[in-house]
Amino acid sequence: MQVEMTGIIINEIDLNESDKLIKILTCEKGIISAIARRSKVYRNRQGGMLQLFAYCKFTLYLGKRGYILNDSEIKELFFELRSNLKSLSLAQYFCQLCIALKPDEETSQEFLRVFLNSLFYLSKQKMSRALVKSIFEIRTCSLCGYMPCLESCAKCGAYERDNMYFLVESGKLFCEGCLSKGKVNASFLLSSPLLYCLRYILYSPVVKLFKFSVSASAEEKLSFLTEKYVRLHVSDSFKSLEFYKSIPED
Ligand SMILES: [Zn+2]
Repeated sequence: MQVEMTGIIINEIDLNESDKLIKILTCEKGIISAIARRSKVYRNRQGGMLQLFAYCKFTLYLGKRGYILNDSEIKELFFELRSNLKSLSLAQYFCQLCIALKPDEETSQEFLRVFLNSLFYLSKQKMSRALVKSIFEIRTCSLCGYMPCLESCAKCGAYERDNMYFLVESGKLFCEGCLSKGKVNASFLLSSPLLYCLRYILYSPVVKLFKFSVSASAEEKLSFLTEKYVRLHVSDSFKSLEFYKSIPED
């Protein structure tokens, strides 16, 4: 059976001299694996190379042993990512986080849109890497079952107070009066701008998701918080993240 899907290559493994196994984050089916055979499918009809971050319309054959890539029409390659090692390693971290989060058929369309927008803003340098990283981390986690509860204080329901505290481990928000003393050290103080920013990332439609800015200090706190959230709830072992962090800012 022949099927068409749109998606982006998020992993590739050489099977032998001529075949690759690719993982594609699709708009339709979450992540799928497909065998890409012979050089004709590596180099598609537009002459572009099929490689990591290639966003394409794929024509696949679904056989008994899975998908085999028949053809591809490239929509975007995100070439600029390769001119900056730090941006490239961050994009590779997005791929690994995606594989860990396993978006399903229900979430894959929005996940793909967040992914493509993140790569676009990263490759065109339209937003700082730290902010793109924070948006990607907390929004994709939320999409895939790890959504923090930031609507209001988990105990009294207050929407806003001078000091609100976020418990990264439980993903819950507390006002100062409701936070038990024993949890103070494990919590993260959210200033009003920071809480607003987190709510914006969680609840905005994707089309508005990358259209805001924050101060440098808020960006730093946000970055610390979203990464901690991923490490606690998803995984603490992303090699690409450690590599990204080892490269100095340019
Ligand atoms: Zn409260």
